[in-house]
Amino acid sequence: MEPTRPERAPGGHARRRDALRRLLREAGLDALLVTDLVNVRYLTGFTGSNAALLVHADDEADRGEDRTVLATDGRYTTQAAAQTPDLPVLVERACAPALLRRGEGRAGTVGFDSAHVTVDGHADLLTVLEHGELRRAPGLVETLRAVKDAGEVDALRQACAAADVALVGMITAGGLAPGRTEREVARDLEERMREAGAEGPSFDSIVAAGAHAAIPHHRPTDAPLADGDLLTMDFGALVDGYHSDMTRTVLIGAPEDWQRDLHALVAEAAAAGRAALAPGVATRDVDAAARDVITAAGFGEHFVHGLGHGVGLVIHEAPAVSATATATLETGMTVTVEPGVYLAGRGGVRIEDTLVVTDDGAVPLTQSPRDLEFRDDP
Ligand code: ZN
Ligand code: ZN
Repeated sequence: MEPTRPERAPGGHARRRDALRRLLREAGLDALLVTDLVNVRYLTGFTGSNAALLVHADDEADRGEDRTVLATDGRYTTQAAAQTPDLPVLVERACAPALLRRGEGRAGTVGFDSAHVTVDGHADLLTVLEHGELRRAPGLVETLRAVKDAGEVDALRQACAAADVALVGMITAGGLAPGRTEREVARDLEERMREAGAEGPSFDSIVAAGAHAAIPHHRPTDAPLADGDLLTMDFGALVDGYHSDMTRTVLIGAPEDWQRDLHALVAEAAAAGRAALAPGVATRDVDAAARDVITAAGFGEHFVHGLGHGVGLVIHEAPAVSATATATLETGMTVTVEPGVYLAGRGGVRIEDTLVVTDDGAVPLTQSPRDLEFRDDP
């Protein structure tokens, strides 16, 4: 069940809508029709499964919002009253067309979440908007979401802490003994994250032993852990809707030289990536800082993905941190740094942390030891 209590930082939602209005005016939009449920949640705190929001550019925060309306259906009237007491609620099953119909005649140029509206949904909107104009406006709310406020960073910190507690607890309890299966390890981590206060895992956990560790997004199987395996665990916790994301690669038993060298190389790349995080830095330069370390060692072709991604109400969100990304870091952004090297048939190493960018560089929110031979005394 989703919580029906108000989200943390009440009042923060009105501030976010006010920030959005500034973006609407810059974009020349009279209003924005928000249909992505994550964006609706971000702007209102409402967590129901059917909703839309219409935000007008010309509402003044200091006079109160007289034209912002949330729409949801009859299943959620009680929940909407509890979660969004500050907004009028329109009760309709077809939320987005209903909002446009209601604002018809004075709607002007209405932007919509074009990355989230289907072709059929767009056709439905056109049938109800007779005098206004619909305009694609992708990414406006996502731009705001990329920079976290204190309450969001706090939720992410708790989500990261739950993953840390789970990992250390599992290893301390002997949870990586040879013979245990990938699936058992994944389930163990997920149960421990719940015990540590998480609503659940933030995505399907990746647990990859031995040669499976060469597959970046391996799904856990009944394969048993064996002495000499590299074991990659990529997992996270969900707290108040916020996702943590962490990867550790450890060794079952005693490492061979190639395993130790590979782990040290990826650890060096990860450290370079973390050190490159600062306000004003292009995320592609952060990717390069880590990638150059791996390329210089001759393993560039085995680092087959971007360095990282933003993380928040969604596990992968803006800003992208990759060689082709165009984003620039700002204070308050939360991103992952996760270089990996994958050697088909042999195994792989990935080390991932979730960090928050501050004026003084980046602070890791995930704090588990990064050692190949994991010790339980961080
Ligand atoms: Zn991950
Ligand atoms: Zn990640």
